[in-house]
Amino acid sequence: MSLKKSEQIADIQGVVLPIRIIGDKVLRRKAEPVTEINDDLRKIVADMIETMYVKDGVGLAAPQVGVSLRIFVIDTEWVATQQRNPMVFINPKFISTESVEEAEEGCLSLPDIVSEVKRALKVEIEAYDLEGNLKRYSSEGFFARAIQHEYDHLDGIVFTDRIGKVKLFRLKNQIKEFESKTDQNGNNFDYYHSD
Ligand SMILES: [Zn+2]
Repeated sequence: MSLKKSEQIADIQGVVLPIRIIGDKVLRRKAEPVTEINDDLRKIVADMIETMYVKDGVGLAAPQVGVSLRIFVIDTEWVATQQRNPMVFINPKFISTESVEEAEEGCLSLPDIVSEVKRALKVEIEAYDLEGNLKRYSSEGFFARAIQHEYDHLDGIVFTDRIGKVKLFRLKNQIKEFESKTDQNGNNFDYYHSD
């Protein structure tokens, strides 16, 4: 598919959005493809980027802020460099994956939970950027892991779905505790974890 190119890139200042916590139904929905890059979409992305930085994430997927669209943002360097250099992935598609590696992961939607997860060591991915250009990325290690983690969110998958029963058993009560805060509309905002 093709996306309409924008005439200009609006310089939109994002705001921090509440993170959806496990139990929230939007985290379990398959997100919809983006059909047009317009100002509304640029605003969503600006908000996602601001939220990622303020909440100390290395990546954030749109469903994590309640938006069921196939978008995620990643910046694996900024914690070390303190330079903001966000990468935006719209309608991402895996081209290839290679090898397997196990390493620790966490997620803003599952606060304080960390566990080892098996992921491909190398991935190639194609995605549109905010200017509507289709780009191909070769990634390895932590960057590849972040891409796979965020991509999973677009299919309603969280990292604890990918860990073994024994490790999961240890985390069950913590997950249940988060899920119990889900309201009757299926929303579970980070009331208890906002700044
Ligand atoms: Zn996550």
